Amino acid sequence: MKEVLSSPALVEVLPLGGFDHALTYGAKKSLYDCLKVGSLVRIPLGVRRVIGVVSSLSPEHSPPREKLRFVSSLVQPEPVLSSELVNLAKWISAYYACSLENTLGAMIPASVRDGMEAKTRRMIEAIVMPKEQVADLVKRSPKQANAYALLKESKPKQVDAIVWGRESKVSPSVIDGLIKKGLIKQSMSEVSRDAYSDEWTDDAEGLVESLRELTEEQQKATDEIVEDLDSGEFRTRLLQGVTGSGKTEVYCQAMEKALGQGGGVLFLVPEVALAPQTVDRLRARFGQSGEEVVVWHSHLSAGERLDAWRKLVRGEARIVVGARSAVFAPVQNLRLVVVDEEHEAAFKQEDAPRYQGRDVAVYRAYLNGAICLLGSATPSLETARNVKSGKYAKSVLSKRIDGRELPLVHLIDMRREALKQKVPPILSQPLVEALRQRYENREQSILFLNRRGFNTTLFCTECGEVEQCRDCSIAMTYHRTDHYLHCHLCGYRKPAPRVCGNCKSVDIRKKGHGTQRIEDVVESIMPRRARVVRVDADVMTKKNLFREILRDFRKGKIDVMVGTQMIAKGLDFPRVTLVGVIDADLPLRMEDFRASERAFQILVQVAGRAGRGDRAGEVYVQTYAPHESCIQFARRAELDAFLDEELAMRKELNYPPFRHLIRHVFRGRSEQKTKFYAEQWRKELDRAQLKDVEIKGPAATPLVKMKGYYRYHLFYLTSSVSNCLSQVRKIRGQFIIDNEIIDILDIDAVQVS
Ligand code: ADP
Ligand code: ZN
Ligand code: ZN
Repeated sequence: MKEVLSSPALVEVLPLGGFDHALTYGAKKSLYDCLKVGSLVRIPLGVRRVIGVVSSLSPEHSPPREKLRFVSSLVQPEPVLSSELVNLAKWISAYYACSLENTLGAMIPASVRDGMEAKTRRMIEAIVMPKEQVADLVKRSPKQANAYALLKESKPKQVDAIVWGRESKVSPSVIDGLIKKGLIKQSMSEVSRDAYSDEWTDDAEGLVESLRELTEEQQKATDEIVEDLDSGEFRTRLLQGVTGSGKTEVYCQAMEKALGQGGGVLFLVPEVALAPQTVDRLRARFGQSGEEVVVWHSHLSAGERLDAWRKLVRGEARIVVGARSAVFAPVQNLRLVVVDEEHEAAFKQEDAPRYQGRDVAVYRAYLNGAICLLGSATPSLETARNVKSGKYAKSVLSKRIDGRELPLVHLIDMRREALKQKVPPILSQPLVEALRQRYENREQSILFLNRRGFNTTLFCTECGEVEQCRDCSIAMTYHRTDHYLHCHLCGYRKPAPRVCGNCKSVDIRKKGHGTQRIEDVVESIMPRRARVVRVDADVMTKKNLFREILRDFRKGKIDVMVGTQMIAKGLDFPRVTLVGVIDADLPLRMEDFRASERAFQILVQVAGRAGRGDRAGEVYVQTYAPHESCIQFARRAELDAFLDEELAMRKELNYPPFRHLIRHVFRGRSEQKTKFYAEQWRKELDRAQLKDVEIKGPAATPLVKMKGYYRYHLFYLTSSVSNCLSQVRKIRGQFIIDNEIIDILDIDAVQVS
């Protein structure tokens, strides 16, 4: 104690709360010896005790002696954050306008922050002794004698006290009694909560792939990535490959190279539950060489996450597969980051910290001098532009494996189908016939349904026209209450027309259909023995159901699978020869400037599910807007032409990726107040005359009331996020808002509802 007082060891600690810079603390010698940069400690801060990360063990400046406070305790000796992750956190909190505390909170699993311990088990074992001695010891307790005899017989000799006690109906007090008498020996052992060992396997057969030759294109792409890895410098590359072109194999080649360099790999997918086959393939592939693949997803229990985290921190595992939040997984010596299906909106986090996982992945690779590989059959416009400008490199897989054809896509003009029948049909005649034909041929079908928006938009069933805002080129929303159309970007409104503005038809409609309804219709048109299943959000909430459905589908027990987004991507079923799209143009009726991009992506991805086996696939696409160019480009699978046209369109409107889109949401319990402050704020902004910021709104969000809160939003279009933020913040600092109202900034917003 004396020694501590005379010359305390000093450490710098970054408190995880309220502070954006490190503070200096003293540490007792015994504690100091356990600390590393990145260790998690508990420290006094004001009157509170908070958690902090040790950021330096040799502080640059000495604090005034009398004010020195001491680290209270050690929470996690293992470094929770490398300096690289601390830098990443700083960048995220600056760029995405969220607190460092919030960001660090997202980075460090709660179980680690809480100082959760590794799980230990109490193991017990009977000690062999002469009979008389045993009899003597347990003389007065037949229960103990009984338990001892049982334990002596158990195989293996050493058992988990709790499990064994439960199974053999021996109470803990009996066990303790025997321990006291020296008849049972106990020891502690650390266990790993490896709950997901075969969690994702829907059918492991055929997954352990025999080594086969890469196609010419795969080889070329691999060579290019290997060259990137050899350079030892940061680089981002788009792997643009049509569906079924073997992108996963190229990822694996790149991973092998990175592991060979002694590095770690981060593999991001839009949602782990939707990528069971990818996880299985990686496990089968790398498991063979003793490489553990850690799966990082939101359903892990606190203990499982802690164990996964530990394995990575200690370098016991070097590969992580996970969704968005896995971008923070503490992979050591990161060499390669793969972002599969990089165009997916799911990479954007919609709660604080509101980051774009794909972009964070690129930045993390940059901080590590690693390679970031973005893969997609339908790259995002953002990535396409970065390739065009030379910021990202590109490798292309233009052909399907084994020269399989992309499926033939038929467009079914629903405007004409609607004329044939009184009520617009859900399933057109050609699609019904195709479904029945597949059933007879013992082939499988997938029916895809777009997810509906929150609101109704108006469209004409005769010409397919969708009512759009004159200023924003997005679909307008119909409001039942006042029969007006509203633009949810800028707030413009006009009375809902009674006739189509394009063809003067009176047949303008507002509805879509749910999956349940489609399932019923499909059942009604199929032969009685046909098996139809539905996969939607409900199914996904039941943990094993989706996996079971996939397994049954693979085994051919299901004839038709009906579903939403979840079945659009990634799945590889050789026996599927028909894909039907119920409402291809529905995204075009959504209030989103990315509508064409989404419609195109979904069509191409869904079509990609057909014809992955020996037989060619066919796709039937029902649409009211067959003339729309995104639908035409998707039909012919003309990616580059689509990207060119869409980029030109975005440029003309100055939308992303040509400028950044920042969404500013005002949220409150009172609609009047929320609207009022959003409007006042707009006036404030107009007075200030911001530079390089175009302002839209305020407007009610498409889903104006959510969880009891009313929401109004404004949009800022700018070429520089930091410049825009600093101007906005300056004004916001002087703008007084009722404290019932909360305002939130969402940088590079994806969701506009
Ligand atoms: P993508 O991700 O581009 O849609 P996948 O990676 O799923 O395509 O590959 C499609 C199919 O082709 C898979 O069944 C995969 O096992 C197979 N495959 C990939 N590369 C080869 C190859 N070089 N030779 C034979 N089959 C391959
Ligand atoms: Zn019309
Ligand atoms: Zn508008």
